[in-house]
Amino acid sequence: MEAGQDSKKKDILSNIVTKRYAEKHDSRTCHIHDLEYYNTTYNCLGISVKDMVGDRKRSFGNMMNALHRAIVELTNMQSGGIGFIHFDSDVAAYIEEENDEEIIEIFHEFFLDLNMSTRKGCENPYVTFNFGLATSKKGRRASFLMLEAYERGDGRGNPFIFPNMVFKIKTGINQEEDTENHDLYMKALDVTAKRMVPTYFNCDSKANALFPADTIGIMGCRSRVVTNVNGREGSLNRGNVACVTLNLVQMAYQSEGDLDRFYIILDENLADARGVLLHRFQTLCEQGIFEEYYGKGYYLGAESCDAREMLKNGTLSIGFIGLWDAMAVLKGRTIDSASIIKEYYEEAIAIIRHMREYTDKITEEDHLNFSLLATAAEGVTGSFAQYDSAHQGKDFEVCKKGYYTNSFHVPVNMDVSYQEKIALEGEFHSLCNGGSITYVEFCEMPGRNVEAVQEIIEYACKMDCNYIGINFPMDHCTDCGYMGRIVGKCPCCQSAAIRRLRRVSGYLAEEDKFTAGKRKELKDRRFHMAANSMGVGRYDG
Ligand SMILES: [Zn+2]
Repeated sequence: MEAGQDSKKKDILSNIVTKRYAEKHDSRTCHIHDLEYYNTTYNCLGISVKDMVGDRKRSFGNMMNALHRAIVELTNMQSGGIGFIHFDSDVAAYIEEENDEEIIEIFHEFFLDLNMSTRKGCENPYVTFNFGLATSKKGRRASFLMLEAYERGDGRGNPFIFPNMVFKIKTGINQEEDTENHDLYMKALDVTAKRMVPTYFNCDSKANALFPADTIGIMGCRSRVVTNVNGREGSLNRGNVACVTLNLVQMAYQSEGDLDRFYIILDENLADARGVLLHRFQTLCEQGIFEEYYGKGYYLGAESCDAREMLKNGTLSIGFIGLWDAMAVLKGRTIDSASIIKEYYEEAIAIIRHMREYTDKITEEDHLNFSLLATAAEGVTGSFAQYDSAHQGKDFEVCKKGYYTNSFHVPVNMDVSYQEKIALEGEFHSLCNGGSITYVEFCEMPGRNVEAVQEIIEYACKMDCNYIGINFPMDHCTDCGYMGRIVGKCPCCQSAAIRRLRRVSGYLAEEDKFTAGKRKELKDRRFHMAANSMGVGRYDG
């Protein structure tokens, strides 16, 4: 499978992608994501349950079975994730006489199916459920029971990896104590404290508050699709078409400490990012495989049976990684404290603002929805650093650590309180209109310490983060079901069968499946919050 994909990527790079952009991809300057789908399909999509299963009357269980089949089918027609924008109101319409246990069992079966290897024969569908705003009796029930089913895990209590669940926070609906869904919010926090899921989408942030909360949400692992220069706004029936990631650190090496020179190189690479995205868009319009797709009505404009009319509603994202690594190279200085970050903060913000002004400008000029993405950089984080280490940055400390830091995130190995981390990242969120996330690391599962989770989420909302998650090492014994931080063997039954779940780029994943770069990052991570008290420290594992 992997070898086949590699030869397909090579073939696309040499025969379809323009030579200049292929070189930029090869030199890890401007990475083209999902290259193997370059000429066939788009990345991700926001959707409603009704879009996928219709509104025919049937039992809740039958509806969820139909939904699973539709998800698997759609997953094979696109390269990235599927985001249900208001899953709770959606499924409420299908609940009839079923009792609570029956509904939990249906969700349980559904989650088991989602976690089976179905996607392209070897991966699972990347599905995200946005929820938390439905205040109807059935909508609230759906939310509570879905959380309950997720928390229980599979038959042996093992946590589910999929789906990703995103709780939408909104004042007047669930944030304050006297609001209708505050109890649901508290339940969500309780599950997060044990499972890292749900994550939280802040409907009240500066950028999000401009749009009705029920029309926006997360798709994939962080993609945010909201404005539209070509039609209806909001996240439904639209998605990210394609994205590239710029290597800010490499540009910093090349500019040799000269900020003016850095901007010249950045502008040149932004122009290339625009060029390759336009080329891909054009290629998809001409060669994309959408015939089966048009009749489904999933995508805005699909009824025209014309790829351009459909895809013009999606976004083209320019992403970036390694902002603080780039600053370290530019300044010739190790950036390892909040006070040093503050010293260079305005210059760092100015770089990201410059990139956002560029995507806004070309959105006007090209009449396509360009957006700025705080890239998750799944595979890229290590491969960029490795390449640069061999070709230009080998004497630099940021290269030696073996990975670059995610988007605008503060260095993961820096001792910083959660308040400082959030305050240093908050302002970047509103600039990254294509998607962003801030994480806070716990040293251990907070478990019963739900207040700590609540405090962090609310502080992040106050600091204007759009999307927030908490991370902790989630180990469990697959023999006896013991959960917690397990160093070595299971303390309960001495079994060595330990499954270690971590989140490094948007989704939960098993630690032993991480790329080398991500593993190095994981090892370097400091935590910002002890499980039972405040404080900073370091993983010793
Ligand atoms: Zn055990």
